Amino acid sequence: MDYEKIFKHIYEELEKIENKGQVADYIPELSMVDPNSFGVQLTTVEGEKYAFGDSNIRFSIQSIAKVFSYVLAYSLVKSDLWDRVGVEPSGTAFNSLVQLENDRGVPRNPFINAGAIVICDILVSELQSPKEEVLSFIHELSGVNSINFNHTIAKSERANGFINFALVNFMKSFGNIHNDIDDVMDLYFNICSIEMSCEELSNSFLFLANNGVVPYSGAKILSSSRTKRANALMQTCGFYDEAGQFTFKVGLPGKSGIGGGIVAVHPMKYCITVWSPPLNSKGNSYKGMLFLEEFTTQTELSIF
Ligand code: GLN
Repeated sequence: MDYEKIFKHIYEELEKIENKGQVADYIPELSMVDPNSFGVQLTTVEGEKYAFGDSNIRFSIQSIAKVFSYVLAYSLVKSDLWDRVGVEPSGTAFNSLVQLENDRGVPRNPFINAGAIVICDILVSELQSPKEEVLSFIHELSGVNSINFNHTIAKSERANGFINFALVNFMKSFGNIHNDIDDVMDLYFNICSIEMSCEELSNSFLFLANNGVVPYSGAKILSSSRTKRANALMQTCGFYDEAGQFTFKVGLPGKSGIGGGIVAVHPMKYCITVWSPPLNSKGNSYKGMLFLEEFTTQTELSIF
C-alpha cells in the first residue's frame, strides 16, 4: 500500500477543515509550539517505514510516556500491581480527583494521571535510579540514546502541578503511595517532559505490535500475555473520557498526550504516530484523531 500517498491525501483533506483545537497552555513551554506542526510515521513489524511532514521533529510526549512507565513497572513486579491500580476505563478527565474518593485512593487505570503516579511510586520502590532507568528503557526500545527529559518543562510541570500534587497527596492518605511524595512527583514530571519524534515513538511502540519483542533487536520486553493486556488497556483507557470515541472511530489500541501526539498500534502489523498540537476539549489532538479515523477507514486497517 502506498501509505505516504494516503497520508498526503488525508492531510490535504484535513487542511480544508477548520482546526477547532487549542494548544495546551497550562505551562508556557507547551503554548509556544507551532500549532501548524503536523507529522506522521508508520512503521511495520517487518521494518518498513512511511513518513509525512514533521515526522522527525521532537515534541513533548507527555502522557504517551505513561505507557513506557507502565510497561517497565509491569516487567518488574508481579500481578499484585493490580491491587494498587485498576483496569477499568475512567470515563473522566485525565486529572480527575472525584473518582479517587469513591475508589478509596485506587486509580481506575495506569493511564490517568493518578494511575501513572502510582506506577511512578512502584518504579521509585523498584529501581535504584528511576529517572535514568526509565530513560535507558526508552533508549533500548527506540535504539536512540539522545532521547531525553526537557528539564525546563519538568520544572514548569512541577511549578504548575497543583492538581497532580492533590492526586498524590490524596492517594498517600489512603496508603497507596509508599515513597516520599517529592521523589514520586520528580519522576512523574520528568516522564511527562520527555521529547520524541513521531518516528522515534513508532519505533519504540513496535514491540506492542510484535508480541512483546522489539523487532529490530529481538529483545523480549513483555510476555505475549502481558502484551495483550497492555494493548487492551490502551484500547479501553488510552484516551481518558474519549476512549470509546477513539475505539468507535479509529479502532486501534492507542495513547494520546497533551503535547498533541497520538500513538496507535495494530497488533502483528504496524505502529502509527501522528502529531498535531491543537487539542480537543478532552485533551486529545483534534486533527490527530480525525487523521487516524480517516486512515483506518480508507485502508481498512483497524483491528475491528
Ligand atoms: N503533564 C500533564 C499532566 O500531568 C500530562 C497530561 C496529559 O498528557 N494528558 O497534567
